[in-house]
Amino acid sequence: MTIALSQFDEVRLDRVSRDFGALNALRDVSLTIRRGEFIALLGPSGCGKSTTLNCIAGLLPVTGGAIWLDKNRVDTLRPEERGFGMVFQNYALFPHLNVRQNIGFGLKMRGRSKSEIDRKVDEALNLVRLQGQENKLPGQLSGGQQQRVAIARAIVIEPPLVLMDEPLSNLDAKLRLEMRAEIRRIHNELGATTIYVTHDQDEALSLADRIVVLRDGVVRQVGAPKELYEAPAHFDVADFMGFRN
Ligand code: ADP
Ligand code: MG
Repeated sequence: MTIALSQFDEVRLDRVSRDFGALNALRDVSLTIRRGEFIALLGPSGCGKSTTLNCIAGLLPVTGGAIWLDKNRVDTLRPEERGFGMVFQNYALFPHLNVRQNIGFGLKMRGRSKSEIDRKVDEALNLVRLQGQENKLPGQLSGGQQQRVAIARAIVIEPPLVLMDEPLSNLDAKLRLEMRAEIRRIHNELGATTIYVTHDQDEALSLADRIVVLRDGVVRQVGAPKELYEAPAHFDVADFMGFRN
């Protein structure tokens, strides 16, 4: 493949904290993500999922702890130096740029040649199955197609890590199921490492290799879907996952 993601062995959060004034939005979050994993960050609204993702991406400074990519400390780097791919709930596309320009934007910023940009964007378009749509503006696309553009834009820069924050919550139920399968397919085809934020238990259970359950800024449990299902570590994990008995 033309798109070859940067490789590494693990991303490690070491007692990451983030305060907003008196509020401890994240408290001593420690977590190791291995290359190739699909990790879901799961928990109710306000538990700190987006804060965690934004700290990893560099959009938000941590107030304590450190983030490592193998032996390199990254929490001190600017977002563009970390080079992680981000996908947001609201797509965050440039409305005045067409699909091809939106996807190629990050490569252009990085000063890549036109031929390289064309090749990589073509492959990204194929990967997200948007061939034939490349000259349209975002406003001419459906929500699902816009999210495909956002995914293509995130992966075309060949990031070591793909970060997605509730990417499907603006879509209707049918499209949400379709795009869920697409996101896992793209992850597998690329051999990506993905951290996927959701408040939807079903989404986490069906997508993830491992689920991190967050509550009030604290990691409650980390495990494969089966482990969480069979042995929730805390009553509120069982409760939140809907495993009441
Ligand atoms: P989630 O994504 O799980 O819904 P967030 O990470 O957005 O939760 O928020 C975690 C907590 O931090 C919430 O109590 C939220 O109100 C608070 N918070 C998030 N961002 C800010 C901010 N920029 N300023 C103040 N408080 C914030
Ligand atoms: Mg959020």
